[in-house]
Amino acid sequence: MRSSSSLQLLTLFGIPIRVHFTFLFLVLWLGLVVASRDQPASTAIMLLVLVFSCVVLHELGHALMAKRFGITTREIVLYPIGGIARLEGMPAGVAELLIALAGPLVNLVIAFVTLVAMVAMGTISQLQDALVGGADLVTNILGNLLVINVMLFAFNLVPAFPMDGGRILRAFLSLIVGQQEATRFAAMLGQGVAILMGVIALFSPSQNLVLLLIAVFVFFGAGQEAAYSRTRATVQGRTAKEAMMTRFETLAPQDSLEWATRLFLATHQRDFPVVDAWGRIAGLLDRHRLLEGIRQLGKEGAVLDAMDRDLLLIEPETPLEDVLQLLNSRPARALLVSDGEKLLGILTVEKLSQFIDVIRRI
Ligand SMILES: [Zn+2]
Repeated sequence: MRSSSSLQLLTLFGIPIRVHFTFLFLVLWLGLVVASRDQPASTAIMLLVLVFSCVVLHELGHALMAKRFGITTREIVLYPIGGIARLEGMPAGVAELLIALAGPLVNLVIAFVTLVAMVAMGTISQLQDALVGGADLVTNILGNLLVINVMLFAFNLVPAFPMDGGRILRAFLSLIVGQQEATRFAAMLGQGVAILMGVIALFSPSQNLVLLLIAVFVFFGAGQEAAYSRTRATVQGRTAKEAMMTRFETLAPQDSLEWATRLFLATHQRDFPVVDAWGRIAGLLDRHRLLEGIRQLGKEGAVLDAMDRDLLLIEPETPLEDVLQLLNSRPARALLVSDGEKLLGILTVEKLSQFIDVIRRI
């Protein structure tokens, strides 16, 4: 599902770059820091643009490496404490290791290039002045670039989920002790690091709010990662046909939206496959599409004109681990299970979590 609380700024390599609304707090914070130091606003703007660009480049590092493994990136979202490249699935082992390393490596390369440039220009001794905007423009920019990228590199390598360092650690460990154990250990360590960061944040005199936020983010991120890994282990070896819903109503393309509404009200079902007279799958009508259809076409409108045609079709033998990943990357979508011709079942987030809940108990 696309993050509704973020704004799309631009598209790079076909990937939408979005900014979460909380990014505004970072702008305000930077403004306050600059104002408290009596620096011109241009310094704040320069810092913001530099941080922003370096975080985007870092995330693009992940995204482009993921692409080499055939994984697409749905979007890159920038939060005040960093960016997130939302990948459609995450492989294990060496691929995860390389994808996680690619981001921090981008920062290392930028830091190295700026360092070489400053040394070559003989301005490296003005680094401290550059950080407070006290040198000439080029030196100010290079100096800040250097420090920002060293910080981004070091910070992301902290071995705590969901930061890159945690993923790198997990990928390393999983080559030795297996994915499950590796995740458990990496998540535990991540939460330990988060608690430590929280304690430091509470007892340090300055900038503690940002660190505290990061600590909270890491703590819950690590917990989530561990839970997700447990779920994956639970569904291992199982296939889509075991978890799919096989008793369901379908709609015909020419059915009216009024009829569809009645069906929605009469059943528990939330997603209705649209099947034509020859039994072929034509589309899917969910609650959102139904309401949108009624708004635009009226209740006399046809299901055909309101349904979603961009279907996610899977085979009955699809491993549930893949289903989990698909549903995780698009939680609002239902998957249709088909043997190529006939519709066999529907899989949704709720159905899958019910299934997982059941097999954990029996
Ligand atoms: Zn990263």
